[in-house]
Amino acid sequence: MSNIVAIVGRPNVGKSTLYNRLTESRKAIVDDFSGVTRDRHYGVAEWTDKTFTVIDTGGYVAGSDDIFEAAIREQVLIAIEEATVILFMVDVTTGVTDLDDDIADILRRGKKPVFVVANKVDNNNLRNEAAIFYSFGLGDIHLISSMTGSGTGELLDEVIKHFEDEPQDENQLPKYAIVGRPNVGKSSLINALIGKERNIVTPVAGTTRDSIHIHYNQFGHEFMLVDTAGLRKKAKVHENIEFYSVMRTIKALEESDVVILMIDAVEGIESQDINIFHLAEKNKKGVVILVNKWDLIEKNNKTIKVFEDLIKEKTAPFTDVPIIFTSVVEKQRIFKAIEAASKVYENKLKKVPTSKLNDVMLPIIEATPPPSTKGKYVKIKYITQISGSSPMFAFFCNLPQYIKEPYKRFLENKLRENFDFSGVPIQIYFRQK
Ligand code: GDP
Ligand code: GDP
Repeated sequence: MSNIVAIVGRPNVGKSTLYNRLTESRKAIVDDFSGVTRDRHYGVAEWTDKTFTVIDTGGYVAGSDDIFEAAIREQVLIAIEEATVILFMVDVTTGVTDLDDDIADILRRGKKPVFVVANKVDNNNLRNEAAIFYSFGLGDIHLISSMTGSGTGELLDEVIKHFEDEPQDENQLPKYAIVGRPNVGKSSLINALIGKERNIVTPVAGTTRDSIHIHYNQFGHEFMLVDTAGLRKKAKVHENIEFYSVMRTIKALEESDVVILMIDAVEGIESQDINIFHLAEKNKKGVVILVNKWDLIEKNNKTIKVFEDLIKEKTAPFTDVPIIFTSVVEKQRIFKAIEAASKVYENKLKKVPTSKLNDVMLPIIEATPPPSTKGKYVKIKYITQISGSSPMFAFFCNLPQYIKEPYKRFLENKLRENFDFSGVPIQIYFRQK
């Protein structure tokens, strides 16, 4: 389900400090857009059993104050449209500024839950100062210090109450999202898939307002396409076009089971592509990579290998991902791409029986046991796949704390070699037995 928390506010109130704190256990996904004077950030955070995407709307536009304030206002509007919950951050040490009031006006008119977050409350003396923020008319004030972390737990406890739950329907169709940078060919691919087959296509209103799921049922494949390409709206401030497209991408990604990531063969894999890839990986989504516009590439017998190696280098260590070279305009390998997505979906739900898992993995572990640390030998006794919406394995052993990352990687590779989990992130846990 797509739960997005957007942090809005004027510069210097501490948005990126909070963002870093919320995503600290994970590697932050830093998005570096050209034309924007600082990075915009989005990443994955966790609180109790909830996983969600946090967006720091910190990017701002160089130029006159007018453009600058217009850009911030527009980001707030986009956040209202796209986010589940908005954190409106203000600074207790400066009180209320005009821009704070402007932002509050916009937020009051929106329909999304807004939390007024008074930041930099580093000590108790500053608590009283925050009362001034009641003047926004946006309800309770949540006092935090992003620097020390105080108050953030209480804030998140309240925030997650507004999250949408996983749908309970067991018989849902697989959901695929086609994502990628502007102009890579997303709309063309969707048109190629459904364009001339209107009779079998029914647009279905998505779970979230204004997101469209297209039902595809042809050639033995039935699934929902989470459509973002057709829904692009025009942002008034140029730099916000990117922001808008990132928001839509995150949302589509969160609503899908498998992400079909399209890369432009001519431009190659870029940082934004890699960010989307890692976001999919962290969200435990299946992934298929399409290298599109393959018709524009001059090829010899090494070209495919060169592309594959380059992509793998950038997506490492998660490299067990199907890569399909497509030309949407020449209708090359479009169906193969769909087959790959279906296979990945199947892999994502695959359950390896415990007996088979142990028959295959225990001899491998016996031949290559975990290296001993400080004279301690780890003995792995048995393995079981934990049920869930993506593959998770528990390795039961005497000393789980002594198993290091490289051995974990080794086990993951062996699982991948013996059971097809192509395109799917795998979780491995070591448990005491
Ligand atoms: P942004 O522009 O809203 O993203 O703000 P930043 O996160 O970049 O923070 C602006 C400045 O405020 C930085 O110098 C931070 O170190 C500082 N800051 C952020 N949070 C706190 C806090 O809780 N207490 C104090 N004293 N300073 C903070
Ligand atoms: P989107 O922004 O990702 O939805 O991209 P579009 O589907 O609008 O495609 C952008 C442009 O790339 C259009 O002019 C398409 O005709 C062109 N295009 C899409 N796929 C291909 C392809 O496989 N080969 C070539 N040569 N052009 C393509």
